[in-house]
Amino acid sequence: MAEQRADVIIIGGGMVGLALAIGLADAGLEVTVVEAREPPAWQRDHVSNRVSAVTPASRRILERLGAWEAIAAGRVSPFEAIRAWDAAGHPGVTFDAADRGEPCLGYIIENPLIQDALRQAAGRRHRVSLYCPVGVEELDVGADSATVRLDDGRRLRGRLLVGADGASSLVRRHAGIGVAEHDYGQRGIVATVATEQHHGATARQRFLPAGPLALLPLADGRCSLVWSATAERARELEAMDEAAFNTALSGASEEVLGRVTASGDRAAFPLRRLHARAYVAPRVALVGDAAHVIHPLAGQGVNLGFLDAAALVDVLAAAREADRDIGGVGALRRYARWRRGDNAFMQRAMDGFQWLFSNDDPVRGILRNLGLSVTDRLAPAKALFVDHALGRRGELPSLARG
Ligand SMILES: Cc1cc2nc3c(=O)[nH]c(=O)nc-3n(C[C@H](O)[C@H](O)[C@H](O)COP(=O)(O)OP(=O)(O)OC[C@H]3O[C@@H](n4cnc5c(N)ncnc54)[C@H](O)[C@@H]3O)c2cc1C
Repeated sequence: MAEQRADVIIIGGGMVGLALAIGLADAGLEVTVVEAREPPAWQRDHVSNRVSAVTPASRRILERLGAWEAIAAGRVSPFEAIRAWDAAGHPGVTFDAADRGEPCLGYIIENPLIQDALRQAAGRRHRVSLYCPVGVEELDVGADSATVRLDDGRRLRGRLLVGADGASSLVRRHAGIGVAEHDYGQRGIVATVATEQHHGATARQRFLPAGPLALLPLADGRCSLVWSATAERARELEAMDEAAFNTALSGASEEVLGRVTASGDRAAFPLRRLHARAYVAPRVALVGDAAHVIHPLAGQGVNLGFLDAAALVDVLAAAREADRDIGGVGALRRYARWRRGDNAFMQRAMDGFQWLFSNDDPVRGILRNLGLSVTDRLAPAKALFVDHALGRRGELPSLARG
């Protein structure tokens, strides 16, 4: 079979890989995406239990990539406030979009809908070729190009190989890039739930000693649950029948919205932090979960991935304009310097929250209450948090700018 050439080969056609492919195509580069699995299709009559809290900065990226229209025509739930409190009885802290003159702090959107919309947008670009479902048989990164042999016999050659292939990234391992990893010893249980009272467009998070429980507002008035608990407690919860699970869930949520009833499937994911020791190597770059995995408690994972993709688009577009090698380490290092600090900051912040909240140590309890009271009363601290939630921090890539 003839070898197919592209400027960039992306392994992984998840949300981040697809966003990158579209951005690069719009910058004039030829892109091939290799995806191993056919993703679950978004269903109009069924709300998926896999959702993401998407920042306004990510919305701008999705708009510019031409994916937002299809998302808006599907199901989007803007949220105007975030309320966080802890199990020890402190009233907690509320962050309001209105305090920063914004209509909302973000949007809860089902992952399959984001994925579908990005796929449609990629399909409209003649510079994007998507191969799916197909596996990678062999990778080879040479001085001038990278080659990929697929399990259907096809051979691809490109000037840059990008790993957008998630936490267990094959590209990362092939490039010999190690990781710093930490197992939180927790599992995150997700489900769609009905509550007695309406969520009022507020995302709620209660910090329990075993881990945080989030109720994220959905467009149909229900909520999406993300309940992180120690692996042992999570296994107990996963094994419960519906009635027992609903009772445990209502209690754990302090019935903040009345009784909670899970409707539909539950799923659970092991929670860990992972950071690649390098984001780039000659002719190789990593984006999204292939580069960093963070605790879902602040709903930032895919948002950081979209910012990686948008930053890499800027860096490669500039290299192309200047007629420089897009796979050369000079261009790639700029991307790594740009994104590594922001992602590391977010990971440390999540670890700080974990340390402070996921325990019943009385000393940390005092610190927690102090922290929540101060944050709730101190306008600059609140503003800083809200700016992070809005995705307004550091140097934003062009696709994310207002
Ligand atoms: C419980 C939970 C809740 C979360 N909530 C939020 C949230 O509210 N907000 C938020 O921003 N983030 C959230 N996240 C994180 C978010 O889901 C991830 O950061 C995001 O999915 C990462 O996207 P990605 O495209 O980088 O990787 P992935 O979604 O892992 O996609 C990787 C893709 O690569 C493909 N692939 C892998 N290996 C190969 C191969 N060898 N060949 C070809 N293809 C391959 C896979 O099939 C997959 O499609 C949450 C995570 C969890 C676990």
